[in-house]
Amino acid sequence: MKKVYTIGRYFRKKFGEDVYKVPLSIQGFTCPNIDGTVAKGGCTFCLNESFSPNLAKPSKKFYLSPNSRSNPLLQKQLEQVRIQYGATSSRLAGKYGVKKFIAYFQSFTNTYAPIDTLKALYEEALRQPGCIGLSIGTRSDSVTDEILDYLADLSGRYEIWIEYGIQSIYDETLEAINRGHDSANVKEWIERSKKKGLNVCGHVIFGLPAECDAMMLDTVRESISWGIDSIKIHPLYVVKNTALAVDYLKGKFVPIDEERYIRLLVESIKMLPPSISVQRLTAGIGDGSLLAPQWCRNKHLQMKHIREALKEAGYIY
Ligand code: SF4
Repeated sequence: MKKVYTIGRYFRKKFGEDVYKVPLSIQGFTCPNIDGTVAKGGCTFCLNESFSPNLAKPSKKFYLSPNSRSNPLLQKQLEQVRIQYGATSSRLAGKYGVKKFIAYFQSFTNTYAPIDTLKALYEEALRQPGCIGLSIGTRSDSVTDEILDYLADLSGRYEIWIEYGIQSIYDETLEAINRGHDSANVKEWIERSKKKGLNVCGHVIFGLPAECDAMMLDTVRESISWGIDSIKIHPLYVVKNTALAVDYLKGKFVPIDEERYIRLLVESIKMLPPSISVQRLTAGIGDGSLLAPQWCRNKHLQMKHIREALKEAGYIY
């Protein structure tokens, strides 16, 4: 039996102990695909303020004005980093005895702000007890050489990852989900990040509109060739109050079924070279916001089925 090279195994190999990611959601951050800079409305599956007016709207002023240590919103955000990081890391330390953490800037586009703001927030996270690095989720059209050079400099002292949404290598699919950038853009920035010595994680979605099995596997194969170090794969599920929900309710979008998803996932795992770690094998949502498919409601059951399929293919997860 082969062991799937999970990110946990990567961390244990590198640091000799467990390292957990602490997810952070920074108030005031948004996305150029939501605020109208590259498109409006966001990706069709994204629950954002275009569909949910009750979601807190980011402050435009925050993005337009130069930031300084005296900026009240920045002060609030720094405080938020401390609170969110502190609460999650203490809980994880208490439950699992973990001592090392990576601050994961997860929600929205975490390089989409003035560089001084980003530096202040990242460095605040790095100052927190046990924080040995950063993982920054972003879009390939929202990074600059200046940001990458800064992160590359940090990577001399810390464990630094940048996470890009690849989703699909097919431009017609990216257009169908209103992604706001093409596949060439993702390839370019992944390759640039790698040239600068950064660790790169690519996010891939299976079950995107009109994609056949071969297209999904092409995305994994191509992402590997771009030099990613780690991969996250998940099924496309429909959340209420999104553009995708409208398509689903009109019968224009049919979600991927569990058997097909798991079969493609196992095929993808087989394709990965031993150096590429796996950070996510599925995703779901257990609350009332999930519209479809219903198998995405129970993550525990999904993982049970995935483990069984992997075992049958000769892998231990
Ligand atoms: S890039 Fe992310 S945050 Fe922006 S619209 Fe798409 S899913 Fe939402």
